[in-house]
Amino acid sequence: MCAATEALLWGPAREWVRERLPASELRCRTGSGQATYHQFDPATHQHVITYGQRMVAAKFESQSAHGWLSTREIRKYGYFDGQVSTANLLAHTCCHEFAHLLQSASGKRKRGSVHNAAFYRILEEMHDSGAAMAVRAFLLERATHQDMMIPTASLDTFNAQARLEHFAIGDNVLFGTEGRQRQGEVIRINRRTCTVEGTGRWRGTRYRVPVSLMSHAENVY
Ligand SMILES: [Zn+2]
Repeated sequence: MCAATEALLWGPAREWVRERLPASELRCRTGSGQATYHQFDPATHQHVITYGQRMVAAKFESQSAHGWLSTREIRKYGYFDGQVSTANLLAHTCCHEFAHLLQSASGKRKRGSVHNAAFYRILEEMHDSGAAMAVRAFLLERATHQDMMIPTASLDTFNAQARLEHFAIGDNVLFGTEGRQRQGEVIRINRRTCTVEGTGRWRGTRYRVPVSLMSHAENVY
C-alpha cells in the first residue's frame, strides 16, 4: 500500500501539490495498530501517511470489515461498483488517505469538517480517473509476487446481483438515503450498481447508484 501510494498516486500529483505546498515530500509508513491517517507538518513540508497493520488485518474479515468508513464509502458512493472486498477496501484506503493529502494541498481541509464535500469530490475523481483501479491492480500484482492472497470476492452477505435482476433500463426509480431521496430513470445496469439519469428536479445529473439504495418509483409522478 505504501509503494502503491508513492508510485501511482504521489508520482503523478507531486508537481501539482508542490505548486500549492512548496517542497512537499511524502513518506508512507506502516503503523502497528489500527490507526490510518494523513498528517502534514508545514515546518518540514513533510506529508506522512500511516497505514495501520491491524486496519489491514481487519479488512480481511467480513465481520471486522463492516465498521470501517471505507466500507461505508464503497457502498454509499458505488466505488468499485459498490463491491466490498478486501482488494477494493485496501485500494480504496490508499485513495482515501491520499485524497486527504490533495485536500490539504487545495486548502479544503478544515478543522471539524475533514470529510466534507470538497474531500468527496477529490475521492470521486480518483475513482473516475482510473487511479483507484490502478492501485487495486498494483496491490494484487505485488501480493502475487510475495505469495500473498488478497481476496477479491465480495465480503457482503447482501446479494446485489439478485437484487439487480429486478431492474431494467427505462425503469423509474427512487434512490438515495432517507431525507435525501432522488428520482431518476435507469439508463445502464452495471455489475452491482445502476447508472441513473435524474428526472424532475434532478434532471441533468447522472448518478451511479448501489442497488441497495434503489427502489421502483411506481405511481410517483
Ligand atoms: Zn479520512
